[in-house]
Amino acid sequence: MISRRSLLLLPVMAAAARDDSGRKESVRGRLRQDDRLPPAIVTPEGRAIELEADGPTEAVLRDTRLAKEDFEVLGHFRTENVFVVDPIHERALFVWRGGRRLVVTYWCDVCSIRAWSPGRCQCCQEEMRLDLRDPALKEMDLK
Ligand SMILES: [Zn+2]
Repeated sequence: MISRRSLLLLPVMAAAARDDSGRKESVRGRLRQDDRLPPAIVTPEGRAIELEADGPTEAVLRDTRLAKEDFEVLGHFRTENVFVVDPIHERALFVWRGGRRLVVTYWCDVCSIRAWSPGRCQCCQEEMRLDLRDPALKEMDLK
């Protein structure tokens, strides 16, 4: 629990300021959420790009509340059709709405706890709600 906490509190800017030598790539489209298949993004051209991700990231990719969204992931291509999503703590998951790119987060209204992957609140055990946020907001700001 302590290590999870400290991960959650990592400054957002650390990832943004890091020199990645221009290797950061992204894929945008609709999520493919089929239990029998690996997660994927289907691009507007109809191409399915398979996504490799850590456990918490995969839980977001399979969150059915995100099924209809215009979704973007950051990371890098392993092959032409396989994309490796950055780890959950690098905040690589976004939804586009009205020309704005919003970070995917989860929020417990009761405990005011934020998380980056769906599931129950670590405090009250209630299901956390999806909370798409302006990336400029600080992690613990209330909207
Ligand atoms: Zn809670």
